[in-house]
Amino acid sequence: DNRLVTPDKRGEDVDTTLRPQVLDDFVGQAQARANLKVFIEAAKARGDALDHVLFVGPPGLGKTTLAQIMAKELGVNFRATSGPVIAKAGDLAALLTNLEERDVLFIDEIHRLSPAVEEILYPAMEDFQLDLIIGEGPAARSVKIDLSKFTLVAATTRMGLLTNPLRDRFGIQTRLNFYTIAELEHIVLRGARLMALPMDEEGAREIARRARGTPRIAGRLLRRVRDFAEFAKAKVVTRPIADEALSRLEVDSLGLDQLDRRYLDLIALNFGGGPVGIETISAALSEPRDAIEDIVEPYLLQQGFLQRTPRGRVLTQHAFRHMGLAVPAGYQG
Ligand code: ADP
Repeated sequence: DNRLVTPDKRGEDVDTTLRPQVLDDFVGQAQARANLKVFIEAAKARGDALDHVLFVGPPGLGKTTLAQIMAKELGVNFRATSGPVIAKAGDLAALLTNLEERDVLFIDEIHRLSPAVEEILYPAMEDFQLDLIIGEGPAARSVKIDLSKFTLVAATTRMGLLTNPLRDRFGIQTRLNFYTIAELEHIVLRGARLMALPMDEEGAREIARRARGTPRIAGRLLRRVRDFAEFAKAKVVTRPIADEALSRLEVDSLGLDQLDRRYLDLIALNFGGGPVGIETISAALSEPRDAIEDIVEPYLLQQGFLQRTPRGRVLTQHAFRHMGLAVPAGYQG
């Protein structure tokens, strides 16, 4: 998968120079930020661990970044893992027993924990205890181990994939939304400054407009625009420079890339605009259903290109127009 605008993590994103380090440097998500500030200050004043926090939202919106910032603001250690990485109950037990008082444990993609691991997590979150079974058969015995009082910060792309008992154990639940163009422009300008890349506001705005509401994509586009500006020997990144760089990358004026366009084309041309089921779309595009639901659709829904109905996905007239296609006569979508 070599989508440029996919919000999935990739190697280059490990370049952390652009990552905000404190809450005040974190742009956007005003509501989430204001709430976290209150909870962090309150926990610090009490000298207590912060309540467990659940972040919900599409990839690349800053869930990991916020978790890191929280640990920093709380003055505690930050440990990170993810649902698919924790294969056995013992893996989680090892992580939990190594936590110090008030530490932040970040679990990305928490909806992908196995049921056996989830069972271990419940008492750990609630009573800061591990319930382990040692040995097998008649010799097996149950052992309780006390844990440090820690804060679990978890992230998921879709709340609906979490089991109810797990969801209920998070005292603080915060949804992250797509960023506005103004917020992304701010993030791009800050990034350009950190890279010592001269850029005017129009140039930054062009990158922001095409970043699919997602800071991770803004950062990635910024790096590609920098490469292009260096190659073109541009002194300042202006709108025409950014526009040309991004057009070459086949990212359109709204940030849609090839997969987005294949998705819209498929429904428009092969299914008359829908309704069409997700499994059919997934098979026709040869893309996993998860990727379509987590990465492709949220932004298309937010842009008003798509509706989810009980009978399947339906394109809006806006989608036909954006793709330069004629809206079928009498189209109801
Ligand atoms: P998630 O965990 O939601 O997938 P991350 O926290 O890994 O997203 O963020 C993805 C990238 O976007 C990181 O490189 C991060 O530095 C950057 N980023 C995220 N949110 C912001 C923000 N509000 N301001 C600046 N950069 C951000």
